[in-house]
Amino acid sequence: MKYALVTGGSRGIGKAICKQLAEDGFSVIINYRSNDDEANKTLSEIKEAGSNAELLKFDVANVEDIENALEKWANNNEGEYIEVLVNNAGIRKDNLQVFMQNDEWNEVINTNLNSFFYVTRRLLKDMLVKKKGRIINVVSLSGLTGVSGQTNYSAAKAGVIGATRSLAKEIARKRVTANCVAPGFIKTDMTEDLDEKQFRNVIPMRRFGKPEEVANLVSFLASEKSSYITGEVIPVSGGIN
Ligand code: NAP
Repeated sequence: MKYALVTGGSRGIGKAICKQLAEDGFSVIINYRSNDDEANKTLSEIKEAGSNAELLKFDVANVEDIENALEKWANNNEGEYIEVLVNNAGIRKDNLQVFMQNDEWNEVINTNLNSFFYVTRRLLKDMLVKKKGRIINVVSLSGLTGVSGQTNYSAAKAGVIGATRSLAKEIARKRVTANCVAPGFIKTDMTEDLDEKQFRNVIPMRRFGKPEEVANLVSFLASEKSSYITGEVIPVSGGIN
């Protein structure tokens, strides 16, 4: 069995990634933090389609929670390892820097950046030993271009991009790749507060993207077809750059 872990896999982009990777033949481990109903719904949809999946609830912003959950998974699945890791869980807490509170900064950095370090470090060793693995980080155009009101979020996403580029160089010889996917505006709960019509003028394709359109790229990066691609940041943005 080939296992793929998707953090924040219960809703939005993560859910589409879970469904696609399950269709691709992975046994999918769906991580989430708190919304049990949505997580169970995602799990049922995958199982009803005849694929394999399980839930693994932990807070990616909490190192102890990560270690405990992944340790438990390893003990329950002796001899198995997680071949594909999609670091997708993320939050936004926008504010102008001059008004930004410590918790708005810290929660976004912990959830979007520190999570990458803790989860990836835990799973990397097995990938290196097996000489097979894929690390796919969902970042954002905000980490490349900057967006007013998002110094915390841009810093976190830019941090993941820098770390991915360095990590890719460290692990390339072991046939483990690390890449970033950088969505523009995608229709999910995270962008619920944004009026699509107002943003059409800045998007060459004149619409928000669908979660499935991000999942298609993740599917490719998780596959053998992407074997010579590492350390890259690939936008899925309808033409915004
Ligand atoms: P979303 O609809 O808000 O879903 C977020 C997912 O992450 C949920 O499954 C949520 O679980 C989980 N999550 C949040 N905090 C977590 C934590 N501390 N521990 C574990 N799971 C946690 O978000 P989305 O729009 O799909 O975004 C997914 C990723 O794409 C994020 O990294 C985001 O920054 C990035 N992105 C999104 C857009 C966009 O336009 N939507 C654009 C660029 C980048 P619960 O249900 O339990 O809360």
